[in-house]
Amino acid sequence: MRKRILVTGGAGFLGSYLCERLLNEGNDVVCLDNYFTGQKQNVVHLLNHPYFELVRHDVTMPYFVEVDEIYNLACPASPIHYQYNPIKTMKTSVMGAINMLGLAKRVKARILQASTSEVYGDPEVHPQPEEYWGHVNPIGERACYDEGKRAAETLFVNYHRQNGVKIKIVRIFNTYGPRMHPNDGRVVSNFIVQALQNKDITIYGNGLQTRSFCYVDDLIDGMIRMMNTDDKITGPINLGNPGEFTILELARKIISLSDSKSQIKYMPLPADDPMQRQPDISKAKAILNWEPDHNLEDGLLKTIAYFKETLQL
Ligand code: NAD
Ligand code: UDP
Repeated sequence: MRKRILVTGGAGFLGSYLCERLLNEGNDVVCLDNYFTGQKQNVVHLLNHPYFELVRHDVTMPYFVEVDEIYNLACPASPIHYQYNPIKTMKTSVMGAINMLGLAKRVKARILQASTSEVYGDPEVHPQPEEYWGHVNPIGERACYDEGKRAAETLFVNYHRQNGVKIKIVRIFNTYGPRMHPNDGRVVSNFIVQALQNKDITIYGNGLQTRSFCYVDDLIDGMIRMMNTDDKITGPINLGNPGEFTILELARKIISLSDSKSQIKYMPLPADDPMQRQPDISKAKAILNWEPDHNLEDGLLKTIAYFKETLQL
């Protein structure tokens, strides 16, 4: 049966893939975005689809629409963008959650929150299971994002406990792929753009900090599986690729896969930059029967090809 689905942040990197997948599965999709970090260009190919609607709106303001499901993705995700206006970032997470949960309650929709591995902060438990409460600096430069997302999780569970709203929380670990914004400052897009231009690769700190990188198609598959679980499954559930790499290893891989002459340049490490990050995905495997399909090289090759073509490098 065709479902009507609202995707907030739908013109962003992940949101645009999600809209596309939901339309391909025969749904009616309302994509809402204020274009802060997203772009119309990400969804322009969907505009002629008869079951696609694009709405310019800011989630900090109430919005009403009759839908069966809501995917709440609206929030800048890259550190340079979420730190640009930290008060607005926190409002987006907190007021956005309140507005979307209020809507879910009113129209009895299921609602999924795109939470983040950042709720674990700079983790002291490795890899990170969902039971870990995290290690977050509440007054640091990343707090507007981390604490905003943590407060959003609190709102989600309380709308569920108090009002019976059907919630789903996924904690997304670093995800990459074509359609990332070339200037959003995230490590994969930065390194690929630098490598393709034979410019210095900017490693912050000594490059021994680790991240685990998930290819976008795998992530979207996990999100949709989560939305389609029984009402009693609320999460949080980690979604990410457990393959863990140092940032230096990532730089070397990208230089080699893009046949680049770039050199590595070391720069200061930003404040509160987590030293390690790797998802424990046992729950996603058991409950969603999900695990990522792409290894890092496959995903990087696709992403390099995308940047080569779109930036004509
Ligand atoms: P993105 O910046 O490309 O997308 C976010 C979208 O939200 C953009 O289109 C932006 O314009 C929109 N937006 C921002 N503030 C808004 C507001 N107030 N009202 C309406 N729209 C607004 O980032 P992304 O990587 O696609 O991330 C999507 C979601 O997934 C975010 O909530 C992010 O926190 C979460 N997430 C992403 C990753 C990742 O690695 N990509 C990891 C963890 C969590
Ligand atoms: N990073 C880096 N060079 C860059 C961009 C990022 O060394 O040009 C590092 C950053 O300090 C962090 C890691 O790469 O340790 C991942 O950064 P990103 O901003 O992609 O995501 P997050 O820190 O939120 O995981």
